[in-house]
Amino acid sequence: MNELDTEIMVGQLEKRGLTRTEEEQDADLLIFNTCSIRDLAERKVMGKLGQLGRARSKRSLIGVTGCMAMAKKDSLFRKLPHIDFILGTNNITDLNQVLDEVLSSGKQTIRTEDQFEENLNYLVAKRDDPVKAYVSIIRGCDKYCTYCVVPYTRGQEVSRPPESIEEECRMLVDKGYKEITLLGQNVNSYGKDKPEWNCLFHDLLYRLDKIPGLERVRFMTSHPVDITVNLMEAIRDLPSACEFVHFPLQAGSNRILKKMHRIYTKEQYMEKVALLREIVPDVTLGTDIIVGFPTETEEEFLETYQAFEQIRYSVAFIFAYSPRKGTPAFRWKDDISEEVKQDRLQRLLSLHNQICAEERQALLGTEVEVLVERRNKDETQLKGRTRCWKNVVFSGSDQLIGTLQKVKVHSYSHQTLIGELPKPFSVIA
Ligand code: SF4
Repeated sequence: MNELDTEIMVGQLEKRGLTRTEEEQDADLLIFNTCSIRDLAERKVMGKLGQLGRARSKRSLIGVTGCMAMAKKDSLFRKLPHIDFILGTNNITDLNQVLDEVLSSGKQTIRTEDQFEENLNYLVAKRDDPVKAYVSIIRGCDKYCTYCVVPYTRGQEVSRPPESIEEECRMLVDKGYKEITLLGQNVNSYGKDKPEWNCLFHDLLYRLDKIPGLERVRFMTSHPVDITVNLMEAIRDLPSACEFVHFPLQAGSNRILKKMHRIYTKEQYMEKVALLREIVPDVTLGTDIIVGFPTETEEEFLETYQAFEQIRYSVAFIFAYSPRKGTPAFRWKDDISEEVKQDRLQRLLSLHNQICAEERQALLGTEVEVLVERRNKDETQLKGRTRCWKNVVFSGSDQLIGTLQKVKVHSYSHQTLIGELPKPFSVIA
């Protein structure tokens, strides 16, 4: 979501005649679009901003946007008096107005509305990636997990009108985009705040599937409680819907799930996974896991480990718990030592690595469909992803970028499948 917000802000700034530079020292304006989800992300930004305050080089305008701006608000001005403006997640549409205010008055300016108003010009977004794009469909979250700052930094759920989403997707496809990722803190809640639209998340997928040339639709993130049978059937039936579902478990112990306010039990979660695999047999799953949540015992961690082992996630974002100010869990003692957290983290990471290596092994000799995105870092090979989010590299010419290709997998390196085009190659989309 932050990446998309950055693209929208860059688009707004380009409209007023600014150009983007990759060199910090060349910039007249520096914007830090921040994340608050983990303590480390905040500390990095605070460190960098502090450094800029001490620097004696040319003075740029400095703005802080994103979740940290919402969480810290004007306390940032006290800690970092050289900052010129603070813009919350719900105010990015005000960027140019705030810049004008700062430039004309020379005073620090802040806009941090608690609630998002659906008045954003999404079409202005300046995207660097020519093949796949993010499209926002719902902002905010009403779930209030006890460890999470998002409901406080992004406000309550606000769905975007389906006509506006469809218009943007059609425009993107016309520009040559083949893959769209629908974004929201909980995409499965889409439309519930606007019953009069009569368009829930699965309805939206059916609507977007009708756009000619839209090859792949992904979505993130989901809350397990809101994943419905209708959605599972949409993934099975719609050619554009990728067979990959991010299905965050967070923890495998019912006591910890309750303490996290995840509003499902492990058994309910497992039942849903079983149903999804029955309806979409070739689906792959992703997850988020937090280890070392306050009071988590070794036995409770092992329940998470066993659930992970049983479900065999292909994609996993695994984190050691870090308390976030303003959340209910912040009031609880962070009683699991860093050493224990890191040990649990490493055990889960190695299980995940083992599962991924077995998956890659099983793909040897098979043909996978790859959306070719770009050249890899050393420019020697093309790089893309399968429908289930696996990285693939292979040799080929630049004209294949932006096309779908069948690639035969012959080997793999750490995280990446290595393949080749069947000869002679052909562009299939
Ligand atoms: S559902 Fe996700 S975004 Fe919402 S509060 Fe829970 S963890 Fe945060």
